Amino acid sequence: MNPPAECLPSLRAHVLAATGQDVRLCNGCQSCDDIFAPGMDMTFGELMLAAARDDPRALSNDTLWACEPLLRQPIPCQAGLDVVRVVRALQRLALREGYRPLRES
Ligand code: SF4
Repeated sequence: MNPPAECLPSLRAHVLAATGQDVRLCNGCQSCDDIFAPGMDMTFGELMLAAARDDPRALSNDTLWACEPLLRQPIPCQAGLDVVRVVRALQRLALREGYRPLRES
């Protein structure tokens, strides 16, 4: 599924408005790479960077849904990002844009 073009330029701004979190703070340090659940196709860092670049993969990935068990506690971030809040905002936006949890295939 191709993402709606109109959501792309505003993805980072949407997260900022919804959460107060500026995903541009993610420096790709990979410190969160080990926090991983089965089915995740992006690390949390990759997800933050995708959101920062307004990359449509920030909404179309499986990580948004497969990471659910990891969202019950804070995810340590070297840049101080509240990763859980960002993921929740991306989940809501993905659902609003028509994406559904976990692709079939
Ligand atoms: S720990 Fe934080 S800054 Fe580092 S890659 Fe993960 S989300 Fe980005």
